[in-house]
Amino acid sequence: IRDIGILGGGQLGRMLSAAASRLGLRCHIYEPGAAPAGDVAHALTTAPYDDEAALRAFAESVDVITYEFENVPTSALDLLESIRPIRPNRRALAVSQDRLTEKTFLNEIGLATAPFADVPAERDLAAAVDRIGAPSILKTRRMGYDGKGQVRITDPGQLEWTGAASVLEGFVDFSAEISVIIARAADGQVAAFDPGLNVHRDGILRTTTVPCGLSGQVTTDAVLIAARIVNALDYVGVMGIELFVTPTGLIVNEIAPRVHNSGHWTQAGCAVDQFEQHIRAVTGLPLGDGKRHVDVVMENLIGDDMDRVPELLVDSRTQLHLYGKGEARPGRKMGHVNRIG
Ligand code: ATP
Ligand code: MG
Ligand code: MG
Repeated sequence: IRDIGILGGGQLGRMLSAAASRLGLRCHIYEPGAAPAGDVAHALTTAPYDDEAALRAFAESVDVITYEFENVPTSALDLLESIRPIRPNRRALAVSQDRLTEKTFLNEIGLATAPFADVPAERDLAAAVDRIGAPSILKTRRMGYDGKGQVRITDPGQLEWTGAASVLEGFVDFSAEISVIIARAADGQVAAFDPGLNVHRDGILRTTTVPCGLSGQVTTDAVLIAARIVNALDYVGVMGIELFVTPTGLIVNEIAPRVHNSGHWTQAGCAVDQFEQHIRAVTGLPLGDGKRHVDVVMENLIGDDMDRVPELLVDSRTQLHLYGKGEARPGRKMGHVNRIG
């Protein structure tokens, strides 16, 4: 395999392209909107996901197709898959595109999630709140990220609607949030990175810290849960799995069938980082072992955090990553830093 097609041209696509390039491989990015990955990739197509000619030309120019964005329309995936293999597979995408199918799948393989109810329309909300109670969180089934499309329901009388088909989740009183970044190869080999401790603010990831400071029991459980998920999906590639730590055990919050923001620390902590690991998995190369060589705190640079770039540039323990995105709007992820040791 020489050429990799990547659906999505955001910062994740950009970092995948850089990792592939180090291995002598080339990436072709397909992105309907603005593409910060465009200057790093070997080729860039900017066309909508319903442009059949563009999709066909993209697929024919590569050996395998992967993605950094899970909301690619089914019709585009059908066309692409008729030309080249898509890794991770379609089932992983279908399951994780929709919070309802995702939670149902997780429960089916024996994993705990927050209690949830399907809320297809606004008129179903009152009944769902009756069942799940308050506090709870209403989330759109599709497309949400960085806490967008979510409403917190603090008392049963306050019924605010998200505007689209949703799930209502019981509020989990967690003591910590962790995530596992795990890779699975086509031959079934699995390698996990150390679970990281995640801190969110306003629904957006602020920091990931490794080691996470939790007991070996908890981190082992987390990795076993992650392995169960990728095995059940016959998954090939890197997956990010977000978990809540509670007194009664781990609860899966959500899964992302791609490299994950909470895995950026691997760029400074591991010989083979999550981006190279994903490229290795989807191209059939042997996986790195996931071993961590140093303690790392990853911090996202969001909005006017960019004002700190001059001081970060001269900090000898800081690895700086900027995404080349232009305007630093509030809430926009502009880059991240990995602080070592
Ligand atoms: P991401 O950018 O990670 O994809 P998202 O928009 O999909 O985010 P979630 O991960 O569902 O959003 O929620 C964002 C954060 O809100 C969680 O990391 C957690 O801090 C909090 N949260 C979400 N669901 C619950 C819940 N059921 N109980 C308690 N807190 C929750
Ligand atoms: Mg999410
Ligand atoms: Mg999340």
